[in-house]
Amino acid sequence: DSVFSHVVQAPEDPILGVTVAYNKDPNPIKLNLGVGAYRTEEGKPLVLNVVRQAEQMLVNDQSQVKEYLPIIGLSDFNKSSAKLIFGADSNAIQENRVTTVQCLSGTGSLRVGAEFLARHYHEHTIYIPQPTWGNHPKIFNLAGLSVKPYRYYNPQTRGLDFQGLLEDLGAAPSGAIVLLHACAHNPTGVDPTLDQWEQIRQLMRSKGLLPFFDSAYQGFASGSLDADAQSVRMFVADGGECLAAQSYAKNMGLYGERVGALSIVCKTADVASRVESQLKMVIRPMYSNPPIHGASLVAVILKDRDLYNEWTVELKAMADRIISMRKQLFDALQAKGMAYKLLFILVIHCTPGDWSHIIKQIGMFTFTGLNTEQVAFMTREYHIYMTSDGRISMAGLNSRKVPHLADAIHAAVT
Ligand code: PMP
Repeated sequence: DSVFSHVVQAPEDPILGVTVAYNKDPNPIKLNLGVGAYRTEEGKPLVLNVVRQAEQMLVNDQSQVKEYLPIIGLSDFNKSSAKLIFGADSNAIQENRVTTVQCLSGTGSLRVGAEFLARHYHEHTIYIPQPTWGNHPKIFNLAGLSVKPYRYYNPQTRGLDFQGLLEDLGAAPSGAIVLLHACAHNPTGVDPTLDQWEQIRQLMRSKGLLPFFDSAYQGFASGSLDADAQSVRMFVADGGECLAAQSYAKNMGLYGERVGALSIVCKTADVASRVESQLKMVIRPMYSNPPIHGASLVAVILKDRDLYNEWTVELKAMADRIISMRKQLFDALQAKGMAYKLLFILVIHCTPGDWSHIIKQIGMFTFTGLNTEQVAFMTREYHIYMTSDGRISMAGLNSRKVPHLADAIHAAVT
């Protein structure tokens, strides 16, 4: 008998499990809208041209070896990553108040940041938006933080519950950590306006709440790297402290390379240097040091002006295709002559009579408002796969599949 015979079968991951189910479906009409990865109009994964070029440069460079990186990763990568998110002219960078460590994509950056906070920060409660990416509570709990929700999404308006957010953060104990999605909130696609960000900033600073930004979609949301980093930069411009977890999975298409960075902005260079020494103590026994290949690609692209410019063009093209998918889906639903009310239910972000919000909305996901039964129906009858909360990845959609999706949605709600 196995010493592990008592081990029970764990459930499939709610997000990655969608793809497992999709892969098992033999029907050729099947459509995977659960996957949080970009697909081309042909439904294929995309390797960016700049990534191919950078890879070629690395292959041809005989000085490239496979030695271990330092515990905190590739120095050029870390410097460039900080500039990318905080802005090249950021005071915090110029004053050496930022420590940046290369981590295993966004997830690893969040985990390292959380482990550091659990060891060295006086307040162990982290507030996360409701809803949020399903992995957030698990990451923070396992790091030893205690997780509490703050109101974020209002199902009635399908927009931000700004009042609820302010009330919940206003009632949080001073010093508590607050997780903020830098842009393109997952899964709702609802972001605060710049005005609202400013109010959130003032409230948080007045209460000494510590911001922990999760930036998984910089440039991928609006097509502009600067616009998508505005929220973070507001919190750094005020001279206060914060954490930021960056991922290059989406914006450089480096999903499987696991490239990301954790930055901690401190009050002084001296504090930043001591914080960095403790980040090493977190990382060393976990995975020793990060992988070299993906970070080298990012460093090449961020440092070479031509490659960088080409990257911004390719990034914008991905963002634009997603925006165009929103429009096509919206048009297809309208063409089906669906009732006004139905449209309101199906597509978030819209105020009655003004459909432009739907089309202008940014980010990878649409939070359709479809319930668990409707999702199950669409999977069963139409072979369309998505998470049970009704979240659709617009990046997984293409023009040919829009009519099929519109049919399915129509059938699910009528
Ligand atoms: N945060 C959010 C909000 C995400 O949506 C994701 C990816 N789904 C991540 C972090 C982390 O992804 P990765 O570890 O692949 O960078």
